[in-house]
Amino acid sequence: MEQSSGERPPSTAHTAARDVRTLPKAHLHLHFTGSMRPETLLELADKYGVHLPEALSGGEPPRLRATDERGWFRFQRLYDIARSCLRSPEDIQRLVREAAEEDVRDGSRWLEIQVDPTSYAPRLGGLTPALEIILDAVDRASRDTGLGMRVLVAANRMKHPLDARTLARLAVRYRDRGIVGFGLSNDERRGFARDFDRAFTIARHGGLLAAPHGGEMCGPSSVRDCLDDLGAARVGHGVRAAEDARLLTRLAERGVTCEVCPSSNVALGVYERAEDVPLRTLWDAGIPMALGADDPLLFGSRLAAQYELARGTHGFTDAQLAELARQSVRGAAMPDEVRGRVLADIDGWLDSSPEAAVPAGRGRVAPAAAGLR
Ligand SMILES: [Zn+2]
Repeated sequence: MEQSSGERPPSTAHTAARDVRTLPKAHLHLHFTGSMRPETLLELADKYGVHLPEALSGGEPPRLRATDERGWFRFQRLYDIARSCLRSPEDIQRLVREAAEEDVRDGSRWLEIQVDPTSYAPRLGGLTPALEIILDAVDRASRDTGLGMRVLVAANRMKHPLDARTLARLAVRYRDRGIVGFGLSNDERRGFARDFDRAFTIARHGGLLAAPHGGEMCGPSSVRDCLDDLGAARVGHGVRAAEDARLLTRLAERGVTCEVCPSSNVALGVYERAEDVPLRTLWDAGIPMALGADDPLLFGSRLAAQYELARGTHGFTDAQLAELARQSVRGAAMPDEVRGRVLADIDGWLDSSPEAAVPAGRGRVAPAAAGLR
């Protein structure tokens, strides 16, 4: 009966707003294990007899605070336990397929998933086999779901810079198998970005986009290091750039996309409250942003929720949300014809009447969005 009714109950205070889950967008900041569904983690832990700490099995996202080293260590430890439940090629395939399905449900048209294959190598027969298993899984999930998918290989800044170089060479070698970029993750407070400059030179010269983490746990100087020492074309997070007006101007002039993950920032204590995340400061400075979920397994929310937060907490209008989605698409390492189609579909979303924009899979889909995957 309710299907035939022309009316929808108001879901938020913005009753005339379009559904952000039908807004076409690109997802550029999602970590591999961190993308896992909580219920999948429970099943895999059960299958392998891994004892999960309460923080991972309680059905609620764990309480985290990573602004000191102990907090970061705890976050990493939870991540490591979750990763230890991924032991076979089938587990990897399942993880990637489910990440793709979740993204599609949230209106993503393009996902660049980030992985350090080193961490999976011991259980998957070595570094190269691990990377091949991951790339095969991504290829298959992309074909099965229709979601455009690529991979960022990320080095770990807690490890030796020589390891990062090995990884950069490997990433370049597998470029034609779907690797588009090279990242650097883990605790920004450790070591210096410039220790990894050779690895990033190898990656950039090999045609990969440089997308290191910066400006999350550390302030503006860590973002400057990403630009100056690593040739970053995108910055993972980058939100702390908001503390330095000159840096903001520089990022805007260069068109460096910041992969902003509001829920992650709050969960890890980078900002106390969602309203403290400087989305408006970055927006007003003209910095392109790509909203991302970072580690939904640990932070409890996925891609569309970040756009919902921009609307609900920061007052972004539908036209501004559409522009945020365009920024994510422009920052993506996607083929131009895909970019053109997704941008046109974003216009279609904005042109649709708010009432027509019902959630995907639950009714009509805007004509411009149909058949283009
Ligand atoms: Zn990240």
